[in-house]
This record gives sequence, C-alpha cells and structure tokens, in this order.
Amino acid sequence: MNSAIKERSWVEIDLDSYRHNLTELKRFFAPQQSFMQIVKADAYGHGAFEISKIASKEGACYLGVANCEEGKLLRIQGIKMPILVLSPSLTTEIEDLILHDLSVAISNFEFANDLNRYAYDHKTKVKIHIKIDTGMHRSGLDYESCLNDLNRICKLANLEIEGIFSHYASSESNTEFSEKQLGRFLKVINALPVPPKYVHVANSSALLGKYSGQETMNLVRLGILSYGVYTSPQQMLQIDLRPVMSFKSRIAHIKTLSKNEVLGYNLTYKASKDTVYAIIPVGYADGYDFLLGNRGKVCIKGKVLPVIGRISMDMITIELGMDHNFEIGDEVTLLGNCHPETRVEQLTAKYQGSAYELLCQIGRRAKRFYISEGSIVASSPLSRRDFVSSDFTDSKLNLIIESAISQRLQSNEIGELIYREILRSFFYNKDKDIHYRKNFVHSLKFSDVHLHEQHHCDPKTKFYEHYFRTNTELTFEKVLQNDYFIVACANSDKVLNRYFQRKDVEYRWLMDSNFSLTDEQFTITGVSVDGIDLNSVINRKQGCLEIRCSHPLLKDLMGKQVKFSISTQTFYPKTSHQLSVFITELTQGIRISLIHPDSLESIEVIPIFSGQNKYPKISRTTNKISIATQADEWIFPMSGIVFAY
Ligand SMILES: *Cc1c(COP(=O)(O)O)cnc(C)c1O
Repeated sequence: MNSAIKERSWVEIDLDSYRHNLTELKRFFAPQQSFMQIVKADAYGHGAFEISKIASKEGACYLGVANCEEGKLLRIQGIKMPILVLSPSLTTEIEDLILHDLSVAISNFEFANDLNRYAYDHKTKVKIHIKIDTGMHRSGLDYESCLNDLNRICKLANLEIEGIFSHYASSESNTEFSEKQLGRFLKVINALPVPPKYVHVANSSALLGKYSGQETMNLVRLGILSYGVYTSPQQMLQIDLRPVMSFKSRIAHIKTLSKNEVLGYNLTYKASKDTVYAIIPVGYADGYDFLLGNRGKVCIKGKVLPVIGRISMDMITIELGMDHNFEIGDEVTLLGNCHPETRVEQLTAKYQGSAYELLCQIGRRAKRFYISEGSIVASSPLSRRDFVSSDFTDSKLNLIIESAISQRLQSNEIGELIYREILRSFFYNKDKDIHYRKNFVHSLKFSDVHLHEQHHCDPKTKFYEHYFRTNTELTFEKVLQNDYFIVACANSDKVLNRYFQRKDVEYRWLMDSNFSLTDEQFTITGVSVDGIDLNSVINRKQGCLEIRCSHPLLKDLMGKQVKFSISTQTFYPKTSHQLSVFITELTQGIRISLIHPDSLESIEVIPIFSGQNKYPKISRTTNKISIATQADEWIFPMSGIVFAY
C-alpha cells in the first residue's frame, strides 16, 4: 500500500479505526442519545470533509465546527447534513451563515437580535442552539441570569431554537466540577416550558465520565476520543480506542557518530559511545513539535527509537544503535499506532503538550491518505495554502486537475472550491483568450449494415455484419482561430494521439484497426461553420486520414464566435463493446447521445466527468440514451463518457 505514497512525509488516516472508535463510544450512549461529530480545526487535523462523510454514514445527526469559515468550506465541498457553528460568530459573518445554512450558537441577546433582523429582511429562518455558561466562563449566557434573555430570544420570530447546550471545563479530570456544571445546566433546562429538539452538554470525555446527562440530554458531542486519543489513563480500562492518525516518513540517510561527538543545532546531544543514527526528512515545519528534541520516540519496523538532538526545521535525527538492521527508505512512524510510545498521548506527555494541538499541527501540513481495509480510498490533495491564488504554474494546475480527477473517482462530489479554482486559473491566470467550446452537442447513431445488392454469402457482407454503421453529428460554438480546421481519422491510438496535441484539429475518430483508411470507411457527410458549407480535402498522412475543411469566407469570421457543425459516417466494431466520447477542451454545456438499434438492449453509461458535477443527467428512451449537463456548467478536459454494451 505505502509503496504508492511518494511523499517525504505524510499522514495516514485509518477510517476503520475511526469507525471502530465510534462503535466503542456508542456503547456509552443512553437510548435516546445520538451524536454530533466535532470536525472543527479540519477534524483535529484528520480532514473534516472525509470524516464528515463517514460520520454521517455512522449515524451522526449533526456536525460541529468552530466557525463560519469551516462550515462554509464543508458546504462548498457538498456536505448537506446539519452543521452547528460552536464558537460565537461575528455580525460580519451573518450573511454567510445564512447563505450556507449553518446553525448558529447564540451566546448573547444582541447577536441573536442582529441575526433575527437579517433573517427577517431575507425572509428566512435560522436554526440556533443557545449556549449556557455553567462555569467555564468562556462563551454563553450565564446560567444564573439567563432566563430573561432566553425569553427575549424566544420572541425573535425568524430564529428557530433547535438546541440548547453547555460545555464542560474539565470533563477528563475534574468530576466534581463537571457534576456541578451538569446540575446548573439541568436547572436551566427544567425552567424551560418545553425543551428544544436538542439538549446537549457532553464532549467525548464526559461521555465516559458518566455525566453526559443520561436522562435528559439527547446529543453527545464527540471529538478527541473518536479520533482515538485518550484524555485520561482511567479511560484505557473502559474503552479500546485506536489512533486514527499516523504521521510517517522514511529514513533519508544513515550515518555514524563517534563517542564524544556532538549532534545538531546548539550541540544539545553528545554521544556517550560510538553509535549509528538516521536522518528523517521531517521537522517542526511539518508539525513535529520543537519540544520533542531529545525527547521524542519514533517507531521503525516495530522498534522504538529515540530522537537525539534538536528538532530542525526540516530534519530530525534518530539513534539506531551499532547493530541495527535498518536501511535507507525504511518507513518511520513518528506518531500513531505503531507502538504505545508513539501514541500522541505519550509524545505530548513528554513535554506537557496538548494532544489536540499536536494533531492539528501535523494534520495542517502533511498530505493525507485515507486508508480503509488496507488500501488508500482517498487522499486530500492539497493543503489549504494551495488554494491561495497567486503563483499558479502549469504544473500546479496539472496537479490540481490530477487530484481533482482522483478525488472525483472516489468521492461523491469534486470540491466546488477546486472547481472554481481551476476555472479561475483557466480564465485569469493564463492567456485571457483561452479557447473553449459552448453548447457541445454530439449525437452518435449505430445502425445495422444492410448492403442491398449483395448476397448473404458475399465475404463483404459477412465482414460488415461485425460492424455498426455509425453516423455522428457534432455541433458546438467556439471562437474561430484559423480559416480552416482539420478532422482526423486514424486506425491506431498512437497516430491519433498526435492529433490530440494539435490546436487546429476539431474532430478525431479512432478507426478499428481491421479497416484500411479509405473514404468508404470514414466519410464527412457535412461540415459547416455558421451555415457556410466548407470544402473538404483529404490528405493521407502516416496512418491518418487528415481532412482539411476550409472556405474563403472563413477569413472574415476569424476571432468571432461561430457555430461548428461536423457530420460523419463510419463503422464501429460490435465486438468492441464500448464506445468512448472524449471531452478534450474546456467546454460549457454538454449533450451527448447514442441512438442504437433494438439488438443492443443493455447499454451502460459511465460518465467520467471532471467539473462541478460528476454525475450528469442521463435519460433514456427506447432507442436513445442522452447525457446532459446544465447549459452553463463547465466540464474540464480529460472528461468523457463510455458507453458499454
Ligand atoms: C471541541 C468541542 C467539543 C469536543 O470536545 P472533545 O474533548 O474533543 O470531545 C465538544 N463541544 C464543544 C463546544 C467543543 O468546542
């Protein structure tokens, strides 16, 4: 599996472990309880988009994010389930909160009032969860004096009070204070005439501490424990949690150090004997904490080894010992499930750090691979900084398209964000007069071949029995570049490929290799630009029928948007069992159809689209299948449709 990973360092997110942790945690739910998956800070560095999708499948009824921006990002990526913004929002965020259908935590009347006014002006209703401060003294209405404000908020007609909640200050370590907080919160709930739909107080540690409000609360907010990190040692007796994140790299160099020699910045390590050490190309710039210098442990082939010397920006050093059997390229686990010593709880304990922080820190930078049942099921292509608009090079663009495509094949929707980014880059960062096609309509018609005058035993008839007669009609709009264009037909991939490189080719057809390239086998039946019928001249060139289409009047149309129309007649082998239509240029609005004889009954359509929508609309009538996008929808190159029959 990992041989597929070429990064210097990377993060593996084990989705099976995440599911396992949820199953374990659910054992502690009271019958009426379900859960909100907390995915703030990009799901504690695990990737909010992927975690949200699994959480939803595993029964989560809500997602919790820290702020409007995080919620918006999930919406843009296509997450449809309810999302609560947990921290206090700003009035400047109200527009986005409503636009993206985010539920809002309310900590004071004034903000509720502003939110209500905006919702009223826009003829909408906003779901809110009222936050009660029961002693943590961060956000929330004060538990002792909140009833008045609660009453006033209830009267705001464009707010729907869907939930009420509080938050523990120390659920993993202070039972007494937590119970006090729970008591205070229950008092508030009991004073309400009717409690709202959701009443919630517990984070994940409180669930195990048994003050999740077993009787009253119907929602639990799961964070750190669901990611497989214990917050106190007692929990290890209660529940089996598996770390979801692993942070990995490889040995880059192996070197020796003689007794009394020193190592690294500021000479913090001095060898007490001759030894061998490895250099790992990971440093604090990758999120490996500076404070792990001379303290951290890594795991190679199941063996725990100490970090020696300081953590550099991009490098750390590991002692291997004199009689080691490690090699350059060996995988190194810097954090994760390899050994108890490399669990995040253990690592952060070494410098009194926070597990929450270390996970976020690492997850922010490294490329993530999502693993399920031993194979990579998704990767998060880019860290967020890659969306920053400047310095868009072609190679970066290619990378995005590539990841967009790999993403597309694995997840339900390609991120709207990537979609916009690619579009923006096509139009603004490259030459402004980029060429694209509009209203691309391509219809293909298969029919059985009837050669009337021929006898059934005629070898020619026999030959054609294996083929469909194929008529194609293509129309689209595009800015005319030259006073001619080329239609190419080849009978080998290799030859045709050359014509994919050329900008003056508007149509390509791959002929069955059993055919010789004659104009009996491939004919242009009509070709026009803005209704002007073009002259076509056939050139035979190295395995290709190159048809040049031109007209003297085209000179006047150059630089203008014109309508192309190209029709052909040819043959397609029945035994191929699939026909592909490629989208080779940036295209806005597509309609592709296949008309077929009765003899072809079950035809499957497999759209391979990169663009906003991976699933174009497919409709069928008796002898016709059509695939269509919205007229204004962009489809990126490297898309296509496969008809399998
Ligand atoms: C972060 C957060 C949680 C989750 O806490 P864990 O300790 O990670 O389970 C729950 N509720 C609120 C309001 C939070 O901000």
